Amino acid sequence: MLKFDETTYTRIIDSLHDGLYFVAVDRTITYWNKAAERITGYAAEEVVGRSCADNILCHVDREGCTLCLGRCPLADTIEDCVEREAEVFLHHKRGQRIPVLVRVCPLRDAQGKVIGGIEMFTDLTSIEANNQRIKELERLALLDGLTQLANRVYLEREINARLHEYDRFALPFGILFMDLDHFKRFNDSYGHDVGDTVLQAVAQTLMANSRPFDLYGRWGGEEFVGVIRTVTAADLEQLAERMRLLVQQNFLVHGSEKLQVTMSVGGTSVCPGDTLESIIKRADKLLYTSKQGGRNRVTLG
Ligand code: GH3
Ligand code: MG
Ligand code: MG
Repeated sequence: MLKFDETTYTRIIDSLHDGLYFVAVDRTITYWNKAAERITGYAAEEVVGRSCADNILCHVDREGCTLCLGRCPLADTIEDCVEREAEVFLHHKRGQRIPVLVRVCPLRDAQGKVIGGIEMFTDLTSIEANNQRIKELERLALLDGLTQLANRVYLEREINARLHEYDRFALPFGILFMDLDHFKRFNDSYGHDVGDTVLQAVAQTLMANSRPFDLYGRWGGEEFVGVIRTVTAADLEQLAERMRLLVQQNFLVHGSEKLQVTMSVGGTSVCPGDTLESIIKRADKLLYTSKQGGRNRVTLG
């Protein structure tokens, strides 16, 4: 085993992210690392030499019972040599309570005799905050802010996953490329905000009427893409027609006017050798055919 001198050990312990301290059998604190200083606000000089039962950390459990004077996990471990883990709250020097996960184990000398205990504690505030941040980032990175539908990154990921599934298991899927008709004109007539409301209503329609295993997302601007699982060309056409009709039947009351939009659709099923680019390009071309043909229609290919 690699042997380190004391300075190296100290450096390693001080570079840990978790709080760590050592106590003697009488629970006098003998070592207090840098993370312990950061998490609790107490410097090593303030605690080393004092007993952890001196109400410095004042560990309390979820019910608010103080642990230092009664059933302290560290004291129990020194007594019975059983390692323990518990979620407790400790007292920060500035007064607040910090949720921590503590792990305690006995400290033994070279002969195996128990000479104290070690407590390691992880700050759960930062873990919780980090988890929340990650979730928030995921949400922001994959959902479209205006409509809360899957965004283009999410759609591309989904299509690539479906392509992979098609290559490995021959599971077919289809793509619907949808684009609102004359939306520039709509914005010019009623304003961008009303346009946004329409985009949200279309998104809601797609979401509310989709089957649980299909995914509809916003490709960009006034363009939406549906990733439709395991369908025949006839099913794909029926689904596309249904969505087109539902959007056409949507309306928004604006003053004395009833505002409506229509959408054109291009739909295609996966073919051998397809890539993300090839299948999207094909669907986009078919959409163009729908536009050329007079809009508010579906073209399959
Ligand atoms: P076409 O029938 O040929 O698709 O005509 P179009 O006017 O819908 O197509 P074009 O590509 O010329 O214009 C798209 C318009 O969509 C332009 C832009 O003002 C509008 N648009 C794109 N993104 C948004 C958005 O986030 N909010 C609003 N309100 N409008 C948007
Ligand atoms: Mg467009
Ligand atoms: Mg358009």
